[in-house]
Amino acid sequence: MLLQIENINTYYGSIHALKDVSLHVDKGEIVAVIGANGAGKTTLLNTISGVLHSRTGGILFEDQPIGKLSPDKVVRVGITQVPERRQVFSSLNVLDNLLLGAYLRHGKDTKEEIQEDLDRVFDIFPILKDRQKQMGGTLSGGEQQMLAVGRGLMAKPGLLLMDEPSLGLAPLLVREIFRVLGELREHGTTILLVEQNATAALHLADRGYVMETGSVILEGVSEDLLGDERVQEAYLGGSGS
Ligand code: ATP
Repeated sequence: MLLQIENINTYYGSIHALKDVSLHVDKGEIVAVIGANGAGKTTLLNTISGVLHSRTGGILFEDQPIGKLSPDKVVRVGITQVPERRQVFSSLNVLDNLLLGAYLRHGKDTKEEIQEDLDRVFDIFPILKDRQKQMGGTLSGGEQQMLAVGRGLMAKPGLLLMDEPSLGLAPLLVREIFRVLGELREHGTTILLVEQNATAALHLADRGYVMETGSVILEGVSEDLLGDERVQEAYLGGSGS
């Protein structure tokens, strides 16, 4: 198991935002966490990345406890978060935004290795190659999302945490982003994906977890969740497909 979360409870003051949440991610998988607004999805990712700490329970990454680490230490063990609402550096150009993603690899990986990954990001998102010198803040929403994903990839993480990559994107771009995530899995990247777009997320993912008001209420392989009546009613528009 690459990531193992056991019974975590996370609070904002007196608000109990994660209630006995357990979840795991195996190497090479895409695991989706779906749920409505306020279900606790972002809180879950922030607890894994060390932005928040659970009051009880534990988180293991490659069998090492990481639940008490600060965000910079969590990045160093190999977990990179692509946050909701992108957060690209608006006054840095595209190229520098991407290179910043690789900053922890300097001294560890060669310039050539980093350049190879940069080329790969440019292959995946040709628009970023064309806009290398453009300031991050002047990119469109979809381009910023690609840049945020690209920057996450430049860190070459053992586990990529993705918070709502489809947020605010046109359907065509949503398809493109999900296609890219599938391609990343082919290349061995492990992804924990939080999404309100349950249909797209479950069609891509190997397994999924359904969260409601801070708890995991269902889990299973994606196919089973897509076929589950409760999931269809609540998250897939009751379409039955
Ligand atoms: P969305 O899909 O809307 O982003 P989510 O599933 O990611 O929702 P969270 O953002 O994790 O949900 O929020 C879980 C609960 O915690 C919500 O009830 C929310 O109001 C509460 N919450 C989140 N951040 C804070 C905060 N900083 N202070 C207090 N409560 C918070």
